[in-house]
Amino acid sequence: MPERQGFNTRAIHVGQSPDPLTGATIPPLYLSTTYTQVALGQHRGYEYGRNDNPTREALEAALASLEEGVGAVAYASGMAASDAVLRTLNPSDRVVASSDLYGGVYRLLERVYRPQGIATTYADAWDLAALERAMATVAPRLVWIESPSNPLLRVIDIAAVAALCRRYGATLVVDNTFASPFNQTPLTLGADIVVHSTTKYIGGHSDVMGGVVVVKDRTLYEDLRFIRNAAGATLGPFDAWLTLRGLKTLGVRMRQHAENAAYIADFLRRHPLVEEVYYPAFQGEVAQRQMRTPGGMVSFRIKADPGRSPYEQVKAVLDRFRVFSLAESLGGVESLVGHPATMTHAALAPEERARRGILDTVIRLSVGIEDVNDLVNDLAGALSGAQPQ
Ligand SMILES: *Cc1c(COP(=O)(O)O)cnc(C)c1O
Repeated sequence: MPERQGFNTRAIHVGQSPDPLTGATIPPLYLSTTYTQVALGQHRGYEYGRNDNPTREALEAALASLEEGVGAVAYASGMAASDAVLRTLNPSDRVVASSDLYGGVYRLLERVYRPQGIATTYADAWDLAALERAMATVAPRLVWIESPSNPLLRVIDIAAVAALCRRYGATLVVDNTFASPFNQTPLTLGADIVVHSTTKYIGGHSDVMGGVVVVKDRTLYEDLRFIRNAAGATLGPFDAWLTLRGLKTLGVRMRQHAENAAYIADFLRRHPLVEEVYYPAFQGEVAQRQMRTPGGMVSFRIKADPGRSPYEQVKAVLDRFRVFSLAESLGGVESLVGHPATMTHAALAPEERARRGILDTVIRLSVGIEDVNDLVNDLAGALSGAQPQ
């Protein structure tokens, strides 16, 4: 057996051999929606674009390899990918989801699936005892977690949750968007399904939306292919092409994201106006065991100034950034800063935000791959806005 190729080699080559017709080194962008058949009842494996497209297949082959699955199915967005997984459920099936959940997935579970008879129970999945209590109570068909979580970057022990799922006969879904397959491969830790918003680190340049589901079971893969063709939320060829272009540099980008984020987390930890830093590496041994690097996301809480409202204080910081862009999303080469309480987590009731520790003074950074000195200078300038008045 030849030695298994490394992550970067697979990101650049799997599914991407030179085009057999022309020798084109880079997978061509096939825009055709239909394929001419050789004769009646005889085609070359491609019939119609909703189901078959060589550019999309190249991306899927690469992603399946990087996530260590048997197959990957690509969708128009991360939400379409999440929806595809939930469509495999039957009415009256139960879901247990981590209470630190991407807002869009929470909305999908509550506003689309609950009215159809699929109810979700939420548990603090970083607390295994709490998660097990919820599973023992509702006997879920599906357990849905994210690690690290948004926005406080809590780390969930994926292998331990997978063991619980086996014990209770549940399927484990891990949204691996924040870590990326460079940092962790949940299928190798016992998860059954990996979901990504490829809009984030995998695309990596904030210029293309997409999502993917990767599985290790052939039958489930075929089911997902069937549902995608039937329901139609497929990834367009140009979007697949752009995502594949981004994917080739995922490894080098993730290394730089991680290096910059580690430096920034350390800087913030020593800053007198910062109360707390949320970063996977500061959360104990699970992150170290489970992740190749702690990733590129860092959140922090500024020291409350009793003379000002938390909103005014945080606004004074956010308005001073010049290199970081104030924006939703994450995972691009450019640094972004966000305010979870009024942006990504605005849909949660204030008490629910408080229960989860998402205080008004929490700021979330998606650390980009710019020169880290410029990022630190920008942060230092912005934090001067947190000075007591
Ligand atoms: C962005 C995101 C999604 C949704 O993906 P879209 O591509 O925006 O539809 C799902 N999960 C996580 C963790 C995300 O960050």
